[in-house]
Amino acid sequence: MNDESQKEKLRQHFARRVTTQARVVLDTWQKIHSDHGLAASHRAELISATDKLVRYAQHFEMDGHAQAGQKALDLMARWPAESTPNEELWPQLQDAMEQLCQSTLRRTDKDKTDAPLQYRRTPIYVALENEEMAARLIRQLEFFGFRASAFASADALMEACALSKPETILMDVSFGGSPNAGIGIIEHLQERHETPIPVIFVSDEDGSIETRLRASRCGGEEFFYPAVDPGQLIEKIETYTHGNTVEPYRVLVLDDSRAQAKYMETVLKRAGMTAHIITDPMQIIHALDEFSPEIIILDMYMPGCTGMEIARVIRQQDRFHSVPIIYLSAEEDVSKQLHAMSLGGDDFLTKPIDPKHLIATIHNRGRRARSLLALMIRDSLTGLYNHTHTLHLLDQEIAKARQKDQSLSFAMIDIDYFKKVNDTFGHPIGDRVLRSLSMFLKQRLRKTDHVGRYGGEEFAIILPDTRPSDARNVLNEIRERFSELRQRAGDREFNVTFSCGVATLQPGQTAQELCDRADRALYASKKAGRNCVSADTP
Ligand code: GH3
Ligand code: MG
Ligand code: MG
Repeated sequence: MNDESQKEKLRQHFARRVTTQARVVLDTWQKIHSDHGLAASHRAELISATDKLVRYAQHFEMDGHAQAGQKALDLMARWPAESTPNEELWPQLQDAMEQLCQSTLRRTDKDKTDAPLQYRRTPIYVALENEEMAARLIRQLEFFGFRASAFASADALMEACALSKPETILMDVSFGGSPNAGIGIIEHLQERHETPIPVIFVSDEDGSIETRLRASRCGGEEFFYPAVDPGQLIEKIETYTHGNTVEPYRVLVLDDSRAQAKYMETVLKRAGMTAHIITDPMQIIHALDEFSPEIIILDMYMPGCTGMEIARVIRQQDRFHSVPIIYLSAEEDVSKQLHAMSLGGDDFLTKPIDPKHLIATIHNRGRRARSLLALMIRDSLTGLYNHTHTLHLLDQEIAKARQKDQSLSFAMIDIDYFKKVNDTFGHPIGDRVLRSLSMFLKQRLRKTDHVGRYGGEEFAIILPDTRPSDARNVLNEIRERFSELRQRAGDREFNVTFSCGVATLQPGQTAQELCDRADRALYASKKAGRNCVSADTP
């Protein structure tokens, strides 16, 4: 190797260190930014990471990073220890971080300034042999609000994973050049993590059962062969990154023995579940209302009534008709167990309880209950909440807004000239557009917002704690970004726009009235020429 290329290799190596450190800073900021409550406790971590970044960047003469990092550090000097930045400092810090994010984009992406800069989520790592494909994919992912990075070598990928665990890895089966080398890298990588990273494998050459098995065994959730188009890939990435944030199961335990109940509570909490314990059967109705459990564990024998009687009462309520019920008892007589299950129970565990068995049972029952529930409340094409559930959520949010005396906004969206999309490109492409809009909405809204598919090409959005002007701005921003997104149909490209109407809850108003007002505003947008957001202000 000659001197020049040796130098270049070294330079690249050091550049990676700087960008990796920049990612650490951005990740930390991201945590704080998505939950302001963490600001005080993460301040020191953020400052020391930024300080390290500036030192690296200066040392390796990467001016962009050095400047952006220094600017952030200067701002942090105005942020007192053990506190949250003041109102003035937040946006300034955010600016500095965006600047840093800009410096961290891959060089191939430098010329692209139109994509929004976002790093709301944990990163997605892309390791593809085809660099051009990787660059294109990353651009699209960023458009959807993901933060993605491409890697050119196994070492770089490993290093990045060690610093910041990604949400998903997109891995070429033959990454690194030789067949199955990519799988080897993932096998190695997963050994270092307690919970495996979900991986999406792609392969141009090898779709054999042996390769698929090996890929699946090391955390391969998906296997694309022969390689697919970016649109499909992004849909998959979206499913995995969303499904990833598993909420802890809410488990209600009723056992008259306080010691036994306490023990169960400890076991459940240690497994990361949310447990609510009662020892008096007469409290059950109250507990159901207050805690809204996803799984119920009942002791079989209690003074005053039996677990089976309680199960019957629970089942009489529509809302808990299908919530899994697990009985606990010292009963080993199988025929008695079967009898108990015929009276509304789903499972039977004998005391003394084996914690592993208990947790596994809850996981199985819980997973199944959740997926059944999802079928009931979600629209199958887009995965968004269906019409009925959206209205149910709206009722809930209205009640909450009243209780907390907060504002609540509601928006209706209707795609413009959607019929023409179907007519020109066909129904399947129309479906793809609906999915792309739903992903777009989910990605760009807060976790506390609810997005539903209201009808064919109409969507509804519930924005809790949002004032009219904020709702309008957010939706207008989304509208603008969506209209810039290039939709693809084979080798043809086109753009799609939508119209939107927003209304904010007035005192004493019902859900129906709020919907009507949003609908009226939507109609006004259509009349005004489409591709705009209107508000219904009383
Ligand atoms: P406007 O700007 O006035 O809203 O015009 P438009 O063409 O979007 O409105 P119109 O209500 O005339 O047409 C809606 C179209 O949406 C007609 C229907 O075929 C299509 N559509 C509804 N649901 C689906 C679906 O699930 N998939 C697909 N591909 N098309 C759908
Ligand atoms: Mg319509
Ligand atoms: Mg329409």
